[in-house]
Amino acid sequence: MSKIKTDFGIDEALFALGIQNLNDGSSTGSNNFSSGETIESYSPVDGSLIAKVKTTSKNDYDKVIDVASEAFKTWRLKPAPQRGEIVRQFGNKLRELKEPLGKLVSYEMGKSYQEGLGEVQEMIDICDFAVGLSRQLHGLTMHSERPGHRMYEQYHSLGIIGIISAFNFPVAVWAWNTALAWICGDVCVWKPSEKTPLCGVACQNIAASVFKANNLPEGISSMINGNYKVGEMMTNDVRIPLVSATGSIRMGKIVAQAVAARLGKSLLELGGNNAIIVTPNADIKMTVIGAVFGAVGTAGQRCTSTRRLIIHESIYNKVKDALVAAYKQLRVGNPLDENNHVGPLIDTDAVANYNKALKKVVAEGGKILVPGGILDGKGYESGCYVKPAIAEADNNFEIVQHETFAPVLYLLKYSGEVENAIAIQNGVVQGLSSAIMTSNLREAEQFLSVVGSDCGIANVNIGTSGAEIGGAFGGEKETGGGRESGSDAWKIYMRRQTNTINYTTELPLAQGIKFDL
Ligand code: NAD
Repeated sequence: MSKIKTDFGIDEALFALGIQNLNDGSSTGSNNFSSGETIESYSPVDGSLIAKVKTTSKNDYDKVIDVASEAFKTWRLKPAPQRGEIVRQFGNKLRELKEPLGKLVSYEMGKSYQEGLGEVQEMIDICDFAVGLSRQLHGLTMHSERPGHRMYEQYHSLGIIGIISAFNFPVAVWAWNTALAWICGDVCVWKPSEKTPLCGVACQNIAASVFKANNLPEGISSMINGNYKVGEMMTNDVRIPLVSATGSIRMGKIVAQAVAARLGKSLLELGGNNAIIVTPNADIKMTVIGAVFGAVGTAGQRCTSTRRLIIHESIYNKVKDALVAAYKQLRVGNPLDENNHVGPLIDTDAVANYNKALKKVVAEGGKILVPGGILDGKGYESGCYVKPAIAEADNNFEIVQHETFAPVLYLLKYSGEVENAIAIQNGVVQGLSSAIMTSNLREAEQFLSVVGSDCGIANVNIGTSGAEIGGAFGGEKETGGGRESGSDAWKIYMRRQTNTINYTTELPLAQGIKFDL
């Protein structure tokens, strides 16, 4: 295995990714018509201004959609396995640029360099998955009730897919959508988070270089920049049959209504409030590792981060003490330094929300076990570094019901049978990821049964955080109900058509209806 390259700076990474500063101080990517105001991208790692990016005006947006519509006309005619070949090349380009892109992800978003590389690896994995899938976009055949008739269903390309993504997975979520949409014959218009615009520019450049090398129109992939107002141009646009939106529940409710009002389709990947149930039959060592990684990894800024631990009263103190001891070992600091476990939050607003949550849990009657706190001084100049915190709480507290996007873990106690823990686990509005730690088969199966976890993801003896691309990813209830990535998630990017062919000289009607002339 080749050694991971670490000894290069952000400027070198930006250069490798084709991001150059223009005379007006802004940076731009391929196929981007943005001419609006500039947004500035600051690194939460050290507070530096990395670059500026221009936002998309309504005029620019209409140009992007025209280019995308034209590109769709040719791209959909290319046989799906040939589209897969383009995605294969795109995956290889990502392999070449894994280190600079991983570094940009780390520096602009604040996750560790290892996690940044892991995010790019997810992009590569979904490309590999999509290449194989490009030969398997099959529908069913069914037997007709009429003699001499054949029935089957087939899937056709849908059109322009609008992608709206969150800051915490600034590149992978786009790839999850776009790799599948491309092999399905769709073209994509992406609005990355306004908090991580350079990651968007970098990805767009990589995609554009592959399309150019193959003499394909760049409009197969386009990017628009800006805040929610730019996102709204897509949600209200009838030219976009599917909007795939990842972000907060608040955003999802607005997007869902806007898209539904024009009877478009939406794929929603929204907030979670994920719990691990720890039964008396749990392996405590595994539990602690899973819980700590789930709660503090990416500084608690994963949709699948562990927010709640539901622990049986008989082992409560043992788990609590082990966790408090483990938290003492955590090092918070520059995420590009692999000796640190926890990097910064995305910005100072996120720090304020973290602070508010800790105050609120106390005000509601909770007890702080590991106090947390905001770090300042050398190495913490960005003002975005906080210490992971643990509080004892009750599931009914308002703050526990709410997703705080920061490293705050709530310990909740249950007594009696596993059913009681499952009721607590399900007793929130979100339904993304869940887990149980147990070596008892009955408890595990109960958790996975129809009366078990109500989440889109339910794991046994692994934590809530992270997922493999091979499975369909998403959650129930206010998490939005969408599924993307693996399994048959590709179907939402296509339109299904049922075909009936009559190869006789008669015209029999269905359901035995007679219509004699
Ligand atoms: P956010 O909701 O603030 O923003 C997400 C994106 O939506 C951004 O690009 C933003 O500009 C856009 N947006 C906001 N309002 C909009 C509107 N009215 N119309 C159109 N676009 C709009 O979320 P964030 O702070 O960037 O990300 C954190 C949230 O995302 C957390 O709640 C997290 O759980 C969730 N998330 C969920 C998943 C998942 O797969 N379920 C994955 C990653 C993040």
